[in-house]
Amino acid sequence: MLIDTHCHLASQRYEDLAAVREESRALGVDLCISQGTSHEDWARTLAGARQFPDFIVPCLAVHPSDCTETTDEHWRQMVQLARENTLAAVGETGLDYYWDAPEGWTEDACRARQRDYLERHFQLASDLGLNISLHTRDKVGAGQACFEDAFAIAREFPGVRPVFHCFIGTRVQAERIFSDLDGMISFTGLITFKKTEAVRDVAAWCPEDRLMLETDSPFLSPEPYRGQLNFPGRVSLVAAKIAHLRGQSHDEIERITTDNARRFFHLPPGI
Ligand SMILES: [Zn+2]
Ligand SMILES: [Zn+2]
Repeated sequence: MLIDTHCHLASQRYEDLAAVREESRALGVDLCISQGTSHEDWARTLAGARQFPDFIVPCLAVHPSDCTETTDEHWRQMVQLARENTLAAVGETGLDYYWDAPEGWTEDACRARQRDYLERHFQLASDLGLNISLHTRDKVGAGQACFEDAFAIAREFPGVRPVFHCFIGTRVQAERIFSDLDGMISFTGLITFKKTEAVRDVAAWCPEDRLMLETDSPFLSPEPYRGQLNFPGRVSLVAAKIAHLRGQSHDEIERITTDNARRFFHLPPGI
């Protein structure tokens, strides 16, 4: 079985989760780690996991793009939900310097807010004994401040392992994630896109014990379905691409990445 380690099944774009589950299982994808992103989707993320406990394991967090809209009351609510429910990890959180600050916020204030929230998430993960699903995205051509800031915060919490999801960084960055943070990286359908040669090289090289797969669905549908609504079943196409790039069999990639996901997300045997 394959595990989709990062998707958003609370998205309003999924009207019928039972159908998503059936279609994913038909493609060999039996389990998903569904990420929460804001107060608007926490309840739905948890409800999906309650409805399909054999298919969905939830995570909760505030996405960096949502933290300027998040109040202290929302945060308290999330912490309570995180304490009351079994989560795979704290996620999806992180830093995003790609998008401009929203109206009413300076760039500096927005980034400071994101860093404050990221520290809170690491503290929460540490308190709950969970790992963390991290989003980092730098502005194109503007250096790697986002990665460096996230890296520095992660270093303050050595007991919490991060996965840098939808990894599009360099091999040097990946090596630092492994050696300094005991972290992981995961790849999406982006590796099937035409202009992502550098990411394919990192996926081909990545040490076996650091590698995970994801769809980030409903986004980032792999080729030949680019631009369409994505769903967890298509992590099978990411697996096929990785197997090809690494010269390994599909079965090997499935075993490696599923074992890694089970360990990283502390999944109980039997699901
Ligand atoms: Zn993300
Ligand atoms: Zn995501």
